[in-house]
Amino acid sequence: MLRYVTSFGAVWVGMFAWALLDRRDWAWQTAAGGQWALVLVKLVGAPLVAAWFTLDLLERRRPRLAFDARVRSRAPWVMGLLAGAASVLLAAATLALAQSGLVNVTIDADVLDLAAVGPATAAAVWLSLLPLRRLRPGSCMACGYDLSGSPTATCPECGGVATAG
Ligand SMILES: [Zn+2]
Repeated sequence: MLRYVTSFGAVWVGMFAWALLDRRDWAWQTAAGGQWALVLVKLVGAPLVAAWFTLDLLERRRPRLAFDARVRSRAPWVMGLLAGAASVLLAAATLALAQSGLVNVTIDADVLDLAAVGPATAAAVWLSLLPLRRLRPGSCMACGYDLSGSPTATCPECGGVATAG
């Protein structure tokens, strides 16, 4: 989980760094020209909290093999990065839609930013977990092969010995 969230957060920290250097309107129009702490909350705090919360919720319901501490996998890093990038794009799309006037919204700009970032993050995290293999009790830790009916603990698929759960 930490690997995933670190990787995910790196994307948003990058966005924050870009916002600081670039001082684009999308980041600063509601920040009164210098409230970088507010921008930090929006671009780093909110996505990280939303990502951790969503991941924790999903992992409790359906644990993924790649997130098990016994498994060495690059998947959390990769999926964290992908989810980070996807959530940035989704949040930007949501904000663009809200500002385009197609959807009539009359709420505070700060609330709108958070309302765009939160669901975008949740959706991106959920999507990024879909391709990951689920952790099933009695299955191979290496490849996920079902070992429940197997007389030995050795996996006939890959030769792995550790079983989950
Ligand atoms: Zn196996």
